[in-house]
Amino acid sequence: MSSQPKFASADPRLAVLDRQFRLLIDGKMVSSSQTFDVFNPANNAVIAQAPDGTVDQVEQAIQAAKRAFKSWSRLSADERADYVTRYANALEARKEELAALLTLEQGKPFHSMATGEVDASIYWVREVAKRRLEPEVIEDTDEHVVEVHHTPLGVVGAITPWNFPVLLGLWKIAPCLLTGNTMVLKPSPYTPLTSLFFGEIAADIFPAGVLNIVSGGNDIGQYMTTHNDIAKISFTGSTATGQKVMQSGACNLKRITLELGGNDAAVVLPDAEWRSIIPTLFDAAFGNSGQWCIAVKRLYVHSSIHSEFVKAFVEYAQSKRVGDGMDSSTDLGPIQNKMQYNKLLSLFKDTREKGYKFALGGEIDESQAGNFVPVTIVDNPPEDSRIVKEEPFGPILPILSFDDVEDVIQRVNDTSFGLAGSVWGGDRQKAIDVAKRIEAGTVWVNEIHIHGIDIPFGGHKMSGMGVENGHEGLCEFTNSKTYMFRK
Ligand code: NAD
Repeated sequence: MSSQPKFASADPRLAVLDRQFRLLIDGKMVSSSQTFDVFNPANNAVIAQAPDGTVDQVEQAIQAAKRAFKSWSRLSADERADYVTRYANALEARKEELAALLTLEQGKPFHSMATGEVDASIYWVREVAKRRLEPEVIEDTDEHVVEVHHTPLGVVGAITPWNFPVLLGLWKIAPCLLTGNTMVLKPSPYTPLTSLFFGEIAADIFPAGVLNIVSGGNDIGQYMTTHNDIAKISFTGSTATGQKVMQSGACNLKRITLELGGNDAAVVLPDAEWRSIIPTLFDAAFGNSGQWCIAVKRLYVHSSIHSEFVKAFVEYAQSKRVGDGMDSSTDLGPIQNKMQYNKLLSLFKDTREKGYKFALGGEIDESQAGNFVPVTIVDNPPEDSRIVKEEPFGPILPILSFDDVEDVIQRVNDTSFGLAGSVWGGDRQKAIDVAKRIEAGTVWVNEIHIHGIDIPFGGHKMSGMGVENGHEGLCEFTNSKTYMFRK
């Protein structure tokens, strides 16, 4: 354990680190007996210590949430919405600090991705507060009335990953609390600071126990998934961990929402206006340095335009700068952690050793202090190569060639993942026909990465279970309860 770092730098954004990060349990900010180091991925310097929450502390958080549920669940939806809206306002007032912290612990560029993630998250909290799950009248006859109500579940355990720690945390908090549940949230040990920071803000808003935030290792996540006082787990992370969550959640038949990995394909048909979509496709593949569940991870381009497309894509990609996210000239930040960086080293090595053709990049300079990986494009590797079959979660993209629509649909669907996909073509109806045959939870046509409060989002196959957002997403935080009243 090293001591709390102090920065001599004049950059005022670093002031957000000059605090003790603490857990939020039962309305109080508390320390833990142990801490762990949090690193800045742009230079691997320790920037803070996060409390290493103990099993006892998670237990206290769960019991606090259970006590708070009694009164919180009995408030009206409007009363709860008022708290959630006040939370959005309080976050808004601290958004610069939150965005700086996000860049410092996650790596994404402050001026674009980090600010964008924080703004979108606050918008989400504010808008979700306006949604309601009204009772539905199924029958109203002379004899009786049948109504379906949506009742809260109880204590929800939220477990989040390190790629979008602010957005994915607040996506869970707002609908969970609005619908009358209470929560214990456990962020990824790689990016705990932003969650602890928005916990600090929540401490002044919500009644004690309604929202609890406990950072720590994977063990406390596992403890939550096996706890009989937790009614639901809302999990975002890898498919392998999602499978474990589902297994342990069986103990009390927990409700489970799983938002997992993906290997999304984009299909560019021969009649697409392909030159104009290159910037959009670049951002869709390389935004957040490819550390995105719905990043384009396989790009299929028709053989009649493939070589020209690769050339133009590479030219565009060469204008992008990889660097420290605090620097305003940076387009793409570092890889968030060494575990992921090492996975990429292995994938790059495999791609080199197999002799696949790099159209750009291909060599990671390991002498750099930060986890920097260059933008890398692999020209038409075999369909069964690791770079096509695996989710790289980094700035490396295979651009594949296809001749025939039937063949590309088969290749796109030949995966256990089913998160999202996109089709690009001049003939809109033809593109829609292809989109309809892609096995995924979301498929875009001539646009990509559109999300909305009212748009359900979730994966098919091994990319997940259930959805977040939309009416369905809200319903997943409730039980359906049927009342019948004789007149
Ligand atoms: P991960 O599965 O390693 O970790 C996610 C969270 O689970 C962390 O908080 C971790 O501490 C916790 N955890 C680990 N083991 C656990 C266990 N046995 N029980 C309970 N909790 C446990 O995932 P990651 O590496 O942090 O995130 C990257 C993955 O997340 C990628 O596969 C990516 O595609 C996926 N992801 C999916 C979405 C989506 O919406 N579908 C969004 C973002 C990321």
